[in-house]
Amino acid sequence: MEFFQINLQEIPIIYDIPDEEGVIAYFQYDDKISPKNCLFRVNQKWAEENQKVFLNEVIPHEVAHYVDCMVYGTAHSEDHGTTWKMIMSYIFALDPKTEY
Ligand SMILES: [Zn+2]
Repeated sequence: MEFFQINLQEIPIIYDIPDEEGVIAYFQYDDKISPKNCLFRVNQKWAEENQKVFLNEVIPHEVAHYVDCMVYGTAHSEDHGTTWKMIMSYIFALDPKTEY
């Protein structure tokens, strides 16, 4: 990622959130914040039914969490804190909605 002068490794997307949970997607990490331990979890049914929002809003939202953790570390990155909002606005040029 050019902006931060870092190379971000690809991490898996697992489509395993059951629809009944009412959760759309989240970025999963552990305290070591190694890309090996990170993944995106997604509600496949919701993603298929809302493809446009999924691709244009949910994916950048979750990737911003990943970038936030990799660049600033979990200790400095509150879930939808200042650094996350900055990544959403300046890198993705998106309004930082916090609902996912
Ligand atoms: Zn979020």
